[in-house]
Amino acid sequence: MSGAGEPLPPLRRRGLCLVLAAPSGGGKSSIARALLEAEAPALSLSVSATTRPPRPGEEEGVHYFFRTPEQFEAMARAGELLEHATVHGRRYGTPRAPVEAALAAGRDVLFDIDWQGHRQLRERLPGDVVGVFLLPPSLAELERRLRARGTDGEAEIARRMRAAREELTHWSDFDHVLVNTDFDRSVAEVRAILHAARSTRARQPGLAEFVAALLAQG
Ligand code: 5GP
Repeated sequence: MSGAGEPLPPLRRRGLCLVLAAPSGGGKSSIARALLEAEAPALSLSVSATTRPPRPGEEEGVHYFFRTPEQFEAMARAGELLEHATVHGRRYGTPRAPVEAALAAGRDVLFDIDWQGHRQLRERLPGDVVGVFLLPPSLAELERRLRARGTDGEAEIARRMRAAREELTHWSDFDHVLVNTDFDRSVAEVRAILHAARSTRARQPGLAEFVAALLAQG
């Protein structure tokens, strides 16, 4: 047995992919923002590439990497995207390199991607994805939240409500399903899911050595 002062090997863990999904207007982006603030720097946002034009206030490399359809296709062909999908007629995809680097360094990555992206990510990174689906408390509440944003006309609200109904049918692909009634409570619940997922055995490949060293301390 070695002495009690023997240094233990560092307990490394592999980072995980936290996918947050919700129908548009479900409060997903504000929950994502709060999570990133609370969990920085261990959690960072995956910045997607898209062929849609920037909206006012959106910055290249911060909100999206804005690309032409030709550039996007070249990225996809070169295998630079971990997943990609067409959403509302525009292409969206997750750049591979930053995600792989973060996971290997033990940092977690938050994804704001649709159900198609979540499905592909689970296939590409088996065991690394934790999916959380946020349900609205009711469709009437979802519509109220969409209207409260004040940014969309009637036709756009009707379109988003149809899209929301469609998105809701994919709840069963996700590991965790929450009803997003209260903002603070939802943030706390998603953080609890993240913290629990971090400590699973599968995320900590060096555990056997760590415990062996611990026992060797006598
Ligand atoms: P928006 O254009 O409003 O920013 O996003 C439209 C939809 O595309 C949202 O549902 C968003 O989650 C999804 N999305 C954004 N980036 C990606 C991505 O990289 N991959 C996939 N599959 N969906 C994405």
